[in-house]
Amino acid sequence: MGFLSIIENKEIYSFMLNDEQWDRLKDKYKNLSMHMPCCQTRAIPKKSKLGTQYFAHHPSSSCGFSSGESREHQFCKYLILKYLHENGWNVTPEFRGQMPLGETWIADIYAQKNNAKIVIEIQWSPQSIEETKRRQEKYIASGIRAVWFMRTTQKNKWDVLDYQSYDLPIFSIWLNKKNYQLIASGAFHNWDNADLVEIEFIDFFKALMTGSVQYSLKPHARRSLQVAMNTIQCWKCKKPTNTIMEINYFIPHAKGFTKIYRLDVEDLSHTHNEILNQPSLLQLYQYGVIKKRFSKTRGEAYLSNGCYHCDALQGAFFSHHERNAENMKYSHFIDVHIDYDTQIDGLWFYLD
Ligand SMILES: [Zn+2]
Ligand SMILES: [Zn+2]
Repeated sequence: MGFLSIIENKEIYSFMLNDEQWDRLKDKYKNLSMHMPCCQTRAIPKKSKLGTQYFAHHPSSSCGFSSGESREHQFCKYLILKYLHENGWNVTPEFRGQMPLGETWIADIYAQKNNAKIVIEIQWSPQSIEETKRRQEKYIASGIRAVWFMRTTQKNKWDVLDYQSYDLPIFSIWLNKKNYQLIASGAFHNWDNADLVEIEFIDFFKALMTGSVQYSLKPHARRSLQVAMNTIQCWKCKKPTNTIMEINYFIPHAKGFTKIYRLDVEDLSHTHNEILNQPSLLQLYQYGVIKKRFSKTRGEAYLSNGCYHCDALQGAFFSHHERNAENMKYSHFIDVHIDYDTQIDGLWFYLD
C-alpha cells in the first residue's frame, strides 16, 4: 500500500487525482503500464473503507516492501497530502531531508510553496517527548516549521498540553470508531471555555493552515486588551469612580475576538500599565491611575486601582467584594503587543 505509482513512466501520487479521475483510472488501469515504485510489480488503484486512495501490489507480488502503517495513519496522511496538493503546495510523503551540517531526517509529509517549508508529522505509535523534541530541533535547524499530531484517546486529549509551545505545535488526534471520523484536539475555543475543542481533523488542519489556530504568545503578534470595570462609590470622597476588575486579552481575527487570558490589575505588565494610564483612556472610562499604592490592610504597596477624583486606593479586597458581573462595563479593544513580562499563559486557540 502506497501513495505513489509509476504510470506510463510518470510518477503519480494517488492524492493528486480527484474522485472522477480515480474512478477513470480504476476502469482503465489494466490497459496502462503501471507499477509500484519499489519493484516492477503491477500496481492496482484501490480505495480503503475510510476513503484513502492508494496503490497496492498485484496479489502475485513477492515484494516485501511495506510502510508498516495502519489504515488510520495512512488515511490521516492522505487527507493532509490531498489538502496541501489542492492548495498549491508541492507535497512529498516520506521526504528525506538534510540539516545544514549534513544530518538527515525523514518527514511523514514535507511541503513547499514559494519560500515556505513545512513538515507535518502524524505520530500514530507512541513516541517519547524527548524524541519528539529532538526531532523538532532538527526541523528548526533546517529552517522548517513542523507541526505534530499525536494519537491519543478522546479522554487523553489533554496530554499534548504538557509539551506544547510556540516552537512545538503539537495536537491530539483520534479515530472515532463508530463513524470513522478523525478528530483533532489540543487547542481551546477561548479562555472562558475550560474544555478543549473536538474538531473533525481535516477542518482543524485547514484552520491551522489558514492562521485560525494560533498560539497566545506568538512572537510579535498583534493582540487586543479590554478592561472590564465596575462603578463604585469612593470610600474617601464619596464620588462615583470606575475600578478595573479584569484585564482581558484577545486575539483579533476576521471573525471577531477570541479571549485568551484574564489578568488582575496587580499582575499588569509595565508596558500595558503605561498604556492604560494614558490620560485619554482615564478620562474616557473614568478610572484612576493604576500605580503602586501602599495598603495598610496588606502592609505593602501593590499595583492598584485608585479613585478617578481623589486618587485614593480602591483596595483589591474591597473592589472584588463589590465585583458586579451584571453591571460590568467594557472598554473598546486596545491594540497591544505581548512583551516578556506580560503574565499570560502560552496556549493554542482554535479561532471560531
Ligand atoms: Zn514493491
Ligand atoms: Zn475619591
